[in-house]
Amino acid sequence: MIDPRQPMSYTSAQSGDNYRNWWPHPVMTAFTDASIDELDRLAHDTDDVFNMTRGGYVLATRRDDITGFEPAIQSGIDVAILDRTALRQKFPALSKDIRHVIHIRRGGDISGQQLGAWMLDQIRARGGRLVRGEVTAIARDERFMLDVSGANDITADTIVNAAGPFAPRIAAMLDEVLPVQNIFEQKVAFEDRLRAIARDMPFSIDLDEKRLGWTPEEQALLNADPNLAWLTRTLPGGTHCRPEGGPHGNWVKLGWAYNDIPSVPQEDMVNEPASDPQFPEIVMRGAAAFIPALEPYIETPPTRYSHYGGYYTMTEENWPLIGPMQTDGAFMVAALSGFGSMSACAAGKLCAGWVCGTPLPDYARPLSSSRYDDVELMRQLRSATSKGLL
Ligand SMILES: Cc1cc2nc3c(=O)[nH]c(=O)nc-3n(C[C@H](O)[C@H](O)[C@H](O)COP(=O)(O)OP(=O)(O)OC[C@H]3O[C@@H](n4cnc5c(N)ncnc54)[C@H](O)[C@@H]3O)c2cc1C
Repeated sequence: MIDPRQPMSYTSAQSGDNYRNWWPHPVMTAFTDASIDELDRLAHDTDDVFNMTRGGYVLATRRDDITGFEPAIQSGIDVAILDRTALRQKFPALSKDIRHVIHIRRGGDISGQQLGAWMLDQIRARGGRLVRGEVTAIARDERFMLDVSGANDITADTIVNAAGPFAPRIAAMLDEVLPVQNIFEQKVAFEDRLRAIARDMPFSIDLDEKRLGWTPEEQALLNADPNLAWLTRTLPGGTHCRPEGGPHGNWVKLGWAYNDIPSVPQEDMVNEPASDPQFPEIVMRGAAAFIPALEPYIETPPTRYSHYGGYYTMTEENWPLIGPMQTDGAFMVAALSGFGSMSACAAGKLCAGWVCGTPLPDYARPLSSSRYDDVELMRQLRSATSKGLL
């Protein structure tokens, strides 16, 4: 492994560490199911060193028509709660205008940092080595020759591009272009001094698009500022909330991946122009719209909080790129968007399968760059109404 940073300290340190097997397309379901199988096995083998929970995901909507959810309901793994009384009893935190809830059972969270540290130990125990340095150029002769700043240059028969937001930069060193963009998404963690969120509340997501509840005066002020007028328009669905730090903690995490403008990734994310100082207020307003107990925080915001973010490195269809690059001997694990922690185990195993030439699962080809040759699949993915982005 070559990395100028401590492993897991860049995008992976920003992850919400949530996992789910609920996706609009069966390929992504099979891929994340395989990863959760591995996580279950590792949790068992390590005495759960990475604190895996299984509280499920709660997807809430005010829509009457939930036919879009039918594939998940038919698969038999999830429960749609349509009865209002049952809904209020089971999910009392949700706003009264929520009409339907889908409960994804195979979902929860992990400690990605603990899992990463454990994996690094396994790598070292098997003779793997971490070289602290940055790959700045790659030449190809019989073997790859890597220029590494901060360390000795390295030769290799096989390389794997797993550079996160910088994967396109590594690809460019091989004269290749990766069809990915980096979109900066933000989170807030805050001390819930009002105890607004029950410690056993599952990861909860508001699926509906929404407008934020401004007073007429606020609305007029925002509209008058061209940089802020967007806050009065309809924002996408996906506002999410969960307790952080276990049953005895009192922190809560909120997120909302509403940004869709690509960034050039910064070495230090503190310098990211898309980092939005209003985000803590925006996400609090968005979350209070489906969890009313958060409303007091709109007037009196939390005093202790942390606002952070990182890049979703994404293909247009929001599927990863895992497998061979065009250059012989070069492979990639890239474009892990907002699902890289939950899918890491399957992604690593899949790439190892490509490198070693062992039998591959059915989802291998669609998740490699060869999917772009499948015109029908790409047409389907490009026209999909949901890309599973949270
Ligand atoms: C705000 C946010 C919330 C998220 N929430 C979730 C979630 O709830 N669940 C989930 O599953 N996923 C989530 N994700 C996604 C997940 O965090 C990422 O998909 C995952 O961390 C990507 O891991 P990575 O190893 O590909 O990238 P990174 O963690 O960025 O690692 C890439 C590494 O490559 C190194 N590198 C780059 N260039 C070079 C070079 N030239 N030479 C050597 N090394 C180099 C970097 O230093 C870095 O350490 C979230 C992401 C964000 C931003």
